[in-house]
Amino acid sequence: QNRIGVLDLQGGVCEHLDHLERLGITGKRVKESGDFEDIAGLILPGGESTCLSRLMRIFGMEEALLAAFHRGMNIWGTCAGAILLATRVLGEKPHLGLIDMAIERNGFGSQLDSFYREASIPEVSPDAIPLTFIRAPKIVGVGRDVKVLLQFEDYIAAAENDRVLVTVFHPELTPCLAFHRYFALKCGALTPESLVEATGHFWN
Ligand code: GLN
Repeated sequence: QNRIGVLDLQGGVCEHLDHLERLGITGKRVKESGDFEDIAGLILPGGESTCLSRLMRIFGMEEALLAAFHRGMNIWGTCAGAILLATRVLGEKPHLGLIDMAIERNGFGSQLDSFYREASIPEVSPDAIPLTFIRAPKIVGVGRDVKVLLQFEDYIAAAENDRVLVTVFHPELTPCLAFHRYFALKCGALTPESLVEATGHFWN
């Protein structure tokens, strides 16, 4: 099982599928509850978390997602996807609650306060990684079983536990494949050997 699904209800779906394809991974659009069956990992894309959560409930997908998670599926949430995964959302009820962290929606202000910066995340890539923040949330606290991958002045931008990865920025909106490679290795959709075979280099 080496496919990765992308929740395809709303938000930035095709950019994730494109990055997976560039890594030689078969992506799958996940549109209904039966679609969680044969995937090693699931990406919850950026978009609008209230809207995504309502659509998931309307289409009866929450239960199937949680069942697949409990069977071993890994999950990566980007931006709105990260909000859906948090155990605590400031001022609101949490959604899936699969990673012990507190998150603040629209932590930087309005859409006009979107921005770009770069950072080094040695676990993910030896090179600086481009980061695109679009009306992003801020992770403001994490539990003990959560590892912080990227911390800035007053917020956390990327973190993970053993099966859930969260980024408040959008790697799918940059040419960089590092986070998609990192998630594919985490959920076993890629092995270091297959990566070297496909690209000739672990970090390519
Ligand atoms: N502001 C959105 C929300 O709160 C998230 C934005 C995004 O995913 N780029 O749901």
